[in-house]
Amino acid sequence: MNKKPELLAPAGNFEKLKVAFHYGADAVYAGLDKLSLRANADNFSREDLKAAVVYTHSIGKRIYIALNIYFTPDQSEQIIDAVKFIHEIQPDGLILSDLGTLGLAQQFAPNTPIHISTQANSMNQYAVSLYKSLGSKRIVLARELSIEHIKEIRNSVPDIQLEAFVHGAMCIAYSGRCLLSSYMTTNALGGRDGINDDVRSANKGDCSHSCRWEFVLKEKSRANENFEITEDDAGTYILSSKDICMIEHLEDLINAGVDSFKIEGRMKSILYISSIVRAYRFVLDRLFANQQPCVTDEILKELNVVSHREFSTGFFYTNPQSTANVTASIKYERNVRLAAMVIKAGKASEIKLYNKLSNSDTIDLIGNNMKTVKVLRIVMRNSFNEIVTSVNHTELITIELYDATDNLIIPEKYDILRIESGF
Ligand code: SF4
Repeated sequence: MNKKPELLAPAGNFEKLKVAFHYGADAVYAGLDKLSLRANADNFSREDLKAAVVYTHSIGKRIYIALNIYFTPDQSEQIIDAVKFIHEIQPDGLILSDLGTLGLAQQFAPNTPIHISTQANSMNQYAVSLYKSLGSKRIVLARELSIEHIKEIRNSVPDIQLEAFVHGAMCIAYSGRCLLSSYMTTNALGGRDGINDDVRSANKGDCSHSCRWEFVLKEKSRANENFEITEDDAGTYILSSKDICMIEHLEDLINAGVDSFKIEGRMKSILYISSIVRAYRFVLDRLFANQQPCVTDEILKELNVVSHREFSTGFFYTNPQSTANVTASIKYERNVRLAAMVIKAGKASEIKLYNKLSNSDTIDLIGNNMKTVKVLRIVMRNSFNEIVTSVNHTELITIELYDATDNLIIPEKYDILRIESGF
């Protein structure tokens, strides 16, 4: 087997970055305010990003910064300024897609390794080789490539890092090269009645996921009438893709020569990041320690407890011409919800609450290495040191946790309390 790939997680903000590392990510990718392809993720301010690079390096991990918009001439100054800033803070990679940004990076950030974003749609060995000759260190492969294609690219261009998405949402267009969102959020064109969307362009990092809206059929002479085209009770979502989940096929990707396994989702919650990252970390480590089975029932359950769409293997074993991987159901499946995160660990731990928590809830404490402890008893104290039976998400409290045999559980910082909700 080839060498162990990097596990690369999304970091929509500083808190998510710390959570991703706690649960086992080797590296994270983050965006700079308004200039990456996730203009809506709660991106990092410059100050945060600078601190994030220092923090990441202090724990021996890596951080890549996305500046992957396709920009217009009026945005040039902004991009140059951002590239210079990235040069100053020295992350481990600059993810870009626009050739203009590549030229600017060579000029203003010569020491920062360049990663070519999936948004550049690198689909063959010639494109990869050209990007390499232009100084790129890594290619984030287009999500439309099969395992066989990746092997061919790897064999033709051996000395470049290849990164592939292994988990998360897919796009119905060619990796974000899509005008649906711009069109459907322009009020004069297809904008939604009564909804004050600004024009939101997927190519400028602000996709509104219009492909996932519910659609109806209209007949021209009866403009006020909607004809339903029904897939299931929830409606019709003809453009909405299934999510990718490659957890059972990691060995195929390793043998094809992929160096970095990327998890999608800079807008996803810390609950999502903790579950998905720890599951992939666990399987990857078991794979390289020759432990069987690598993917246990517990892991499959873990991937399914957090919000997601129907899973598929994307286009790794099929191609976009034969199947569009459209989901048959709109439902976001999940059956746990986030209660709190430990921010100061000890016998009595301080927690940050995200939802109402009551001592009658069915709670799991989760941590790295797939640690999952059933909490049978919880003692909560408010800021006046009074014992309370329920708290809401605005309060700062301390807790003591007890397991099934009434032993005190000592959590770690960034461990998460989640509530079984069964919905
Ligand atoms: S609207 Fe849908 S298909 Fe278009 S870029 Fe956004 S997620 Fe992709």
